[in-house]
Amino acid sequence: MSESNKAANTVAAAAVARYRNNFLKEVEERVEDGDMVKMCMQCGVCAGSCPLGPHWEHSPQKIFMMIRAGKRDEVLSSDSMWMCTSCYNCIVRCPRQLPITHIMHGLAHYANRLGMVPKGQPTRDIAKLFWDNLLKTGRVNELKFSLAMYFKDGFVQGIKNALAMQGIGLSLMKAKRLSPMEIIGGHKCKDQSGIQKMIAKAREIEDRRRGALA
Ligand code: SF4
Ligand code: SF4
Repeated sequence: MSESNKAANTVAAAAVARYRNNFLKEVEERVEDGDMVKMCMQCGVCAGSCPLGPHWEHSPQKIFMMIRAGKRDEVLSSDSMWMCTSCYNCIVRCPRQLPITHIMHGLAHYANRLGMVPKGQPTRDIAKLFWDNLLKTGRVNELKFSLAMYFKDGFVQGIKNALAMQGIGLSLMKAKRLSPMEIIGGHKCKDQSGIQKMIAKAREIEDRRRGALA
């Protein structure tokens, strides 16, 4: 088992023990802006305003109702909050001014920390590839990120993806937006150890704030 999986299991076990039968409290304490969920009056405006609503298994309105009903596994293993495109339609229309977008992303982030995201969820996979790429040097290496995307489903699929996208790749190279030399290092921020320390500190603060270390 990887270190990140072990950490996810530890956090999940602690959360289950501490918040048994009180998922709303868990969300209030551990999810970004989760303390606002109780303000929802189930009017349905967000569900009707979300441009992707018909493609969601559960609308934001329904997710808030499920949180209050204690449907922990159904919410956290849902694909729905990963569909949010941050268009902010819901926030500007909610009569109770709930920060719905932030809560959707907060729930997705929390589910990821607990290792409850459905396998192969594409938004999560892309976000992870982007973050892992960025974390190494403090800057995104476009070439390595593109290759990681193409080959995430295996070598054969990677070749097919690369061939399908070769026109765009060549155009990016001509416009100097993509360099083949990035494969042997690429640009990076100057203070590498400083970046790693900054990220470690940010994680520690976030863990303390969310009670994961409590
Ligand atoms: S618009 Fe606001 S109050 Fe209405 S259901 Fe959505 S979150 Fe709840
Ligand atoms: S911000 Fe997200 S949840 Fe809100 S309307 Fe847009 S896609 Fe839907």
